[in-house]
Amino acid sequence: MDTIKVLIVGAGPSACYVVDALVKTDLPLSIDMIDRYPQPFGLLRTGVAPDHERIKSLDTYFGKILDQAPLKFYGNISFGSDIILDDVKDAYHAIFFCTGTESDNDVPGLDYSLSNVAGSRDVVEWYNGYTSQRTHFDPLSLGNNVGIIGMGNVALDIARIFLKEPVDLAKTEMPQSCIDIITQQHISDVHIFARRGPAQAKCTPLELAELLELDTIQTLLDPSSITLSDTDMVEYNETKRVQKNVDILKEVISTKSRSKRLHIHFCSQLKEAHVNDGAVNGVTMAKTILSGDPHQQQTTLTDESYHVPLTSLISSTGYKGAALPGIVFNEKTHCIPHEAGKITTQPKSSATYYCAGWIKRGPQGVIGTNKSGAKETVDSFVADVASFSNKSLQPFDLAKTLKQRNLTYYSYDDWKTQNAFEISEGEKKNKKRFKLTTITDIEHCLKTNS
Ligand code: NAP
Repeated sequence: MDTIKVLIVGAGPSACYVVDALVKTDLPLSIDMIDRYPQPFGLLRTGVAPDHERIKSLDTYFGKILDQAPLKFYGNISFGSDIILDDVKDAYHAIFFCTGTESDNDVPGLDYSLSNVAGSRDVVEWYNGYTSQRTHFDPLSLGNNVGIIGMGNVALDIARIFLKEPVDLAKTEMPQSCIDIITQQHISDVHIFARRGPAQAKCTPLELAELLELDTIQTLLDPSSITLSDTDMVEYNETKRVQKNVDILKEVISTKSRSKRLHIHFCSQLKEAHVNDGAVNGVTMAKTILSGDPHQQQTTLTDESYHVPLTSLISSTGYKGAALPGIVFNEKTHCIPHEAGKITTQPKSSATYYCAGWIKRGPQGVIGTNKSGAKETVDSFVADVASFSNKSLQPFDLAKTLKQRNLTYYSYDDWKTQNAFEISEGEKKNKKRFKLTTITDIEHCLKTNS
């Protein structure tokens, strides 16, 4: 069989699992992989909290997968602008879209153009050393009293990073410049606003316990807010995660007074964000009541409301995928429509199209969830392989095309050089990794270490 030419758009965890599954097919493959970031591993590098070192260390596992694959990596290259569908649609037998999610679910009524209002993605990318898509968020305007809307794991990550002691953050791969800013802000209070109750909190018990067990913080919540209704009790009895979350929350009511405080406000929905002098300085939250069947309870606003002064406000209400130019997209689910990973409406071209990861199933689950999803997608690809021999491909050299367009890209060897440098510099600085976060730093590293 002739070599099957594959393009993978994205280099995050789902793309790495696709590569793994592709290699395991033992088919003759030649894989090109592009990513808008200069380095591989996507959300693992830009989204996972820097103090989650066990998860971060999956980069070694993904590195081994990429090491063994017949693969060329092109970092710093965006699909849709640097390379467009017309360039590649007749140049590959198969194109896999593993582009994850690109933006936040915005909270209606919040003005994200203010420098002290941000979506979680801006904040998470910032403390991971990356500049986010939106430029308005200024971490210097966080202040000491931060509000977070939403109670998923990302909200908990942000609260934990803000409340942790700088000395503990310094050991992680978090850039020192970010630690310095957090230190300067003297964050003493973080408020988490969940629109539903403790039984519906989206976070997982491990992450909840990790935050509440920080020995520098006192958790404050109204004991009556964790009283469960009959419907909540059904959810509690039927779901281990709910049971554990509620039990963890019950235990924190009596935590000692400490210098930093985490306030958890259940059944609270944003009514108004108050703006003064171009910055949010507080919120009015409306109390909600829940109704509906177990596991499907939704909120209704009541007339009761309360005011909380804040120095900044972050919405952490989930992420959403973005449409890729030329690829069919469901604007409601923010995913690419597919059947078992094969994109259902195929543009006219030689290539057959597939998807994996969050752009396939939405932003749910942990990194490992992507493994079975990638396997399903690659099984669909294998079922199509016989049809590839009928396709005549146009000659195409990705590296040559990028050079002709004067685009700077970073190869997998470039990544290996950076990786070795980041680890060895990290050791010298007693950090897990000293992250290269700007193109200038990457260029300098490659010049002096290649
Ligand atoms: P998420 O789990 O979907 O949580 C979103 C939160 O925002 C929920 O509390 C949701 O409340 C709330 N929300 C949504 N729209 C809202 C609105 N308009 N107003 C007020 N609240 C609103 O999203 P996420 O935290 O971004 O996490 C994404 C995925 O990454 C999840 O699968 C998560 O587990 C995973 N993750 C895992 C880890 C880890 O394992 N350590 C770390 C980070 C992220 P409702 O429930 O009422 O909708």
